[in-house]
Amino acid sequence: MKIQKDRKINIEEKLSELPVVQYAWLACSDIPFSARVRSICREECPRYGTSWACPPGVGSVEACQKRCEAYDGVFVFTTVAEVTDAANMEEMLATRGEHEMVTRQIRDIFQEEAFETLALSGESCAICQTCAYPDEPCRCPDQMIPCIEGYGIVVPLLAEKTGIEFMNGGNIVTWFGMILYKCQDK
Ligand code: SF4
Repeated sequence: MKIQKDRKINIEEKLSELPVVQYAWLACSDIPFSARVRSICREECPRYGTSWACPPGVGSVEACQKRCEAYDGVFVFTTVAEVTDAANMEEMLATRGEHEMVTRQIRDIFQEEAFETLALSGESCAICQTCAYPDEPCRCPDQMIPCIEGYGIVVPLLAEKTGIEFMNGGNIVTWFGMILYKCQDK
């Protein structure tokens, strides 16, 4: 189901107040998934197995894909941040908080326009000081924002499909966010 034109205009007007660099609207069936991304999480990410917002807590790649494909469409966007040294992981990660804030703001815009949403972004959830995973259910399932890669989504391919730049230059960090949306009133 396509998003109505007036709702799209409202959303794009509100977005103009946010530091979004590029964005695109995509069909959920065009989101590129791969189980290979999941092995990178498992082998390289310290958050693997520590949060409901990361694998395996988010479910299998197939389950994540099925969850995504139940939405009407996806809004993909980027924000950027300048760093003095792109190889400095600590400096790069310190810029992530701003992107997460923008992701929450965009999710709120879609909700104001009466959309049910699933937001995905660049980090594992940090709402609680200690995640309830795995002993208790997530404390804020409506607020937590899982990691894009943790869902098994191939970000370079997503960039290619949407025409969004994957990289924006030497010392510029490019962060991706996704808002999957579904009309509440259909
Ligand atoms: S909201 Fe709390 S319990 Fe849920 S994923 Fe985030 S940190 Fe974990």
